[in-house]
Amino acid sequence: MEMIANYINGELNPPQSADYLDDTNPATGEIFAKIPLSNENDLKYAIASAEKAFPEWSKLSAKERASFLIKISNLIKDNLEELAAAESTDTGKPFQLAKTVDIPRAASNMEFFAHAITQFSSESHAGRDSINYTLRKPLGVVACISPWNLPLYLFTWKIAPALATGNCVIAKPSEITPYTAYLFSKICIEAGLPKGVLNILHGTGREIGNSIVQNKNIKAVSFTGGTATGRKIAEISAPMFRKISLELGGKNPALVFADCDLEKTVDGLVRASFTNQGEICLCASRIYIEKSIYEDFKSSFVEKVKALKVGNPLNKNSNLGALVSAQHLGKVKQYISIAKEEGGKQLCGDEDFELEEKNKNGYFLRPHVFENLPNQCRANQEEIFGPVVSLNIFKDEQEALSLANQNEYGLASSIWTNDLSRAHRLGDQIETGIVWINCWMNRDLRTPFGGMKNSGLGREGGLEALRFFTEPKNICIQY
Ligand code: NAD
Repeated sequence: MEMIANYINGELNPPQSADYLDDTNPATGEIFAKIPLSNENDLKYAIASAEKAFPEWSKLSAKERASFLIKISNLIKDNLEELAAAESTDTGKPFQLAKTVDIPRAASNMEFFAHAITQFSSESHAGRDSINYTLRKPLGVVACISPWNLPLYLFTWKIAPALATGNCVIAKPSEITPYTAYLFSKICIEAGLPKGVLNILHGTGREIGNSIVQNKNIKAVSFTGGTATGRKIAEISAPMFRKISLELGGKNPALVFADCDLEKTVDGLVRASFTNQGEICLCASRIYIEKSIYEDFKSSFVEKVKALKVGNPLNKNSNLGALVSAQHLGKVKQYISIAKEEGGKQLCGDEDFELEEKNKNGYFLRPHVFENLPNQCRANQEEIFGPVVSLNIFKDEQEALSLANQNEYGLASSIWTNDLSRAHRLGDQIETGIVWINCWMNRDLRTPFGGMKNSGLGREGGLEALRFFTEPKNICIQY
């Protein structure tokens, strides 16, 4: 049994409480590792280490800091297979997905911000009798808290810009999927990252997560997770006037117009709905289809969804693996019951499927598609975060927009049309932070990433992240 350790002051440490939590493989139901239950004492040690490391780390040149990030990125690439297998074991996601998306993206995150920081410049404003220039200083010790669905991918997405800009970091991965963060700490040791620059604390959100957020020495919190948790973090942080970046939940609409390329749209939306078992904050969950093509779309979509293979995540041909935990599977099943109670007609999801003997106790669920759900019902309004989508009909562009915008979330949307003017019009009016036209999850790391409404506050990515992790200071010089 692997004992996961905290990474504090450049070393792997057991938790001071000596208490551990089980880490379960959701594809088998077996416990494969123990997770430290960190407490205030671990946090104190981590903050003291980070504060000690900060003066030297923040004074390194951007190029020197970038060189550590590049070393870490290369080590992630060198350990691709091991990291992908660990991610699959911890989350239940297909190994192929972890190998082609999660882990390569973690390496890209480190590499991208290594390059970005060497190109980061600040503004200057020349006037008639004076010139102003802006310094962008690192904040100090900052916190990065991430969720379970894309563990190493999102963990590094926060840590990389925080370190690149000269901050020292207290990072907390999800207690549901901590394993690759642990392997990442070993990589940081191998890369020679100076001690205290990055500290990784494991444990529950309720205990160590809350302690991190309550701590006044933490100068900023970059958080990705649920909207309810984000709200708590905002409430605690507001009286401290502390910077927060919140990437929260979504209930993402997809609008399908009669003038789309139907085959490409169906393929794109099967992927958008069920990649990673639908456990991506960006997954499409409400699909709105123009009335004249509704029946054609529906039959083709449902046929392709029924053909998706659910099973052992380590098998190359599994399209969907297991859901992340028994508790989450229970939550998703509850929403399936709610959808039925709300009048939804289930179009697929109950087909028989074979599981290997070792996966018999895993948390598997076939993808579910519903129709006939009212737009305002819970199944169409609340985040399910699993392999469940609804098909809905609209009559014209105005109605499509109105149905899409009638939701408290505003993370991502996709619009499927060959009418360029319509794409621009809707791209402007739809209330989401990210809009994909005729594609989904096509990511350029330079772009602002994040949501509006209850999907969050602030943006990550590119310059937005570098600005978030720095304090601007204006200096005015009289000529
Ligand atoms: P969660 O909010 O339960 O947990 C996220 C992280 O916060 C975990 O590390 C957890 O331990 C920690 N945490 C929990 N309570 C805390 C507290 N009181 N104080 C400090 N930290 C605390 O979310 P989750 O279930 O792990 O993740 C799923 C959610 O994340 C979904 O809503 C999904 O949409 C969202 N998500 C959003 C994005 C995005 O970019 N917008 C990306 C991925 C996931």
